[in-house]
Amino acid sequence: MAGKKRRMLLVLLIDVLLAIAILITGGMLVVRWYRDRNRPELSKLVAPDWYTQEFLVRNPYSRPGIKRTQINDIVVHYVANPGTSAEMNRSYFNNLAGQTGNNATSASSHYIIGLDGEILQCIPLDEVAYANYPRNDDTVSIECCHPDESGEFTEETAASLVRLTAWLCQELNLNERDVIRHYDVIGKNCPKYYVEHEDAWKALKKKMKTAIREGKES
Ligand SMILES: [Zn+2]
Repeated sequence: MAGKKRRMLLVLLIDVLLAIAILITGGMLVVRWYRDRNRPELSKLVAPDWYTQEFLVRNPYSRPGIKRTQINDIVVHYVANPGTSAEMNRSYFNNLAGQTGNNATSASSHYIIGLDGEILQCIPLDEVAYANYPRNDDTVSIECCHPDESGEFTEETAASLVRLTAWLCQELNLNERDVIRHYDVIGKNCPKYYVEHEDAWKALKKKMKTAIREGKES
């Protein structure tokens, strides 16, 4: 008799656990459905007139043309090459197309922000760039130029970064919590100054938060 009771209790317990599992899975599916419903179609986003689109040539090393439909995070980098311009960094990515041999480098970025705050878009948002491994599939990459070895951005670069991230967050239905550093993806010391100075990164994020809120209100 006691054994029968124990078996019944066990069956009941399994039923309850199953019901909980179904509820949790269902809840997650509903949340995902709701989130995706509010996501824009990446190929239909219209670029604002304050940045320049100069797409790289299609090639396996910097613009593989791999399509994607979702963006979950925006990743900030520094170019790690003091004093170089946005155009120079774009040329570097574009010239990777001509590589031959076994030691080929793969690298690129959706955006590059120059020392004067100019913004170049190198890769369409609905295509993968090679900057945020292992999260190239669902992230946007922004490379920022910097005048010296410290890696600190100029005021103009920082202002454009805030403007660009705020616009992306609005268009992609994200918020400032979804703007992260390369460091947060894989622990790399990038963007150097903003990994070594947590307060400077927090100050940037605060400006992004304000810009996103202002953009939503306007
Ligand atoms: Zn990086």
